[in-house]
Amino acid sequence: MKKICMLSMLMAGLLISILATAAPKFPIQEPMGGEAFGHSVKNIGNGVYVFRWWVYRNIFLVTDEGVIVTDPMNPKAAKLLRNEIRKVTDKPVKYVVYSHNHHDHISGGNVFEAEGAKFVGHENLLKELSDHPSPVIPLPSITFSDKHTLTLGGRNLELSYFGPNHGESLVVMRLPKEKILFTVDIVTPRRVAFRGMPDFWPDEWVRSLKEIEQMDFDYVITGHGPENQPAIDPASIVAEQRIYLEDLMAAVKKAMDSGTHSPDALRKTVKLPKYENWQYYKEWLPMNIERIWAYYHMGW
Ligand SMILES: [Zn+2]
Repeated sequence: MKKICMLSMLMAGLLISILATAAPKFPIQEPMGGEAFGHSVKNIGNGVYVFRWWVYRNIFLVTDEGVIVTDPMNPKAAKLLRNEIRKVTDKPVKYVVYSHNHHDHISGGNVFEAEGAKFVGHENLLKELSDHPSPVIPLPSITFSDKHTLTLGGRNLELSYFGPNHGESLVVMRLPKEKILFTVDIVTPRRVAFRGMPDFWPDEWVRSLKEIEQMDFDYVITGHGPENQPAIDPASIVAEQRIYLEDLMAAVKKAMDSGTHSPDALRKTVKLPKYENWQYYKEWLPMNIERIWAYYHMGW
């Protein structure tokens, strides 16, 4: 009886794993709610728009010859974005630029591919997306290794790669005329680092931000921000993010150097009161601390 039971469980398990292999590996429809999360569009001026869906944001640039779209987010948001673009121009979307490899930012580009848009991203994206493919993420046909300037209708969008920091394909975008930077995930204003810092390399993150601070820009638009936050922030938020990470790393290192090695103890004892008014301080700081513990403990 026990054996039969075991066998049927094994069979069921096998069937489930066969089904799981046959099905798409990643969710492709409305991964995080939908209309209920709300969306909005802000016209920054000079043809620059900020599109927000839930807590995700991108920019799109309207020129005389067509539109440059960044991160299409997910299939639902991409359709809403396309409708919003249609309200301001009848010019086609010519380019879709991916900020990095993470599916929550770059799914849903099919609607623009159907219009004939070309997809642009860092060359490492090709490997990352072949390791983690998705039917709603068209592969980029225009790739680059260090810097690339996309030109359309007399407008430039400069793309820069700073090495690994969050994944290995993250590009920072700059509108040189307006001195606006669009950056995703590595800068989020007045918020501690995201949860357990998935796919973030703490030391490379700090190094990249220092290099970004040397760029010529006055404003920053970030890939995350709830509805009640400004669509555009001053350049100083880049340094603020970097200083938070340095403070976090220094506080964890100090506690470890003075004998606290358990991540559970560190989560409870390390505090950063300077950031108490930042978003998710209470909820996410302990997770940030554990990630930094892993960095010092495991060298990773
Ligand atoms: Zn990401």
